[in-house]
Amino acid sequence: MKLNFMLPDIATYLKQKKIHVTPARCALLAAFMEHQGFLGHKQISTILGVSFDRATIYRTVEVFLQKNIIHPLPGTSPKLHYALSKDNTGYPSRYSDKHMHFTCKVCGTTICLETVPTPPVRLPAGFTGTDVEVIVKGICSNCQKKDGY
Ligand SMILES: [Zn+2]
Ligand SMILES: [Zn+2]
Repeated sequence: MKLNFMLPDIATYLKQKKIHVTPARCALLAAFMEHQGFLGHKQISTILGVSFDRATIYRTVEVFLQKNIIHPLPGTSPKLHYALSKDNTGYPSRYSDKHMHFTCKVCGTTICLETVPTPPVRLPAGFTGTDVEVIVKGICSNCQKKDGY
């Protein structure tokens, strides 16, 4: 997946989110911007572990989750995979990040579908929905090309 937007300056973005700019936060944000997809705790530890200890990495992930800079992969428990939160223009979102996800059955990759509207869900009378987490499963464009589907 290619980024369709210019990377905003990392420190400026953290300031917009009203959090202090620290080396660990800059490093984590840079990792997510470069990766462009879901990162697991293991991958995050590998990338940041060279310069930061486990407690710092853990706290940084928690701050990013609280500020909705990243969001967890829905439907997994414990939620150990995160992606950068973006709005439907491709820019990092300041708002809550509700969108569908697509998981490829062949390569296992999960991507965010920010530009695909979530279908409305009609609930039975007396029910109130608060969150909709949709994961579409299928075959991604890369795998379709490879295997000649
Ligand atoms: Zn695939
Ligand atoms: Zn997502």
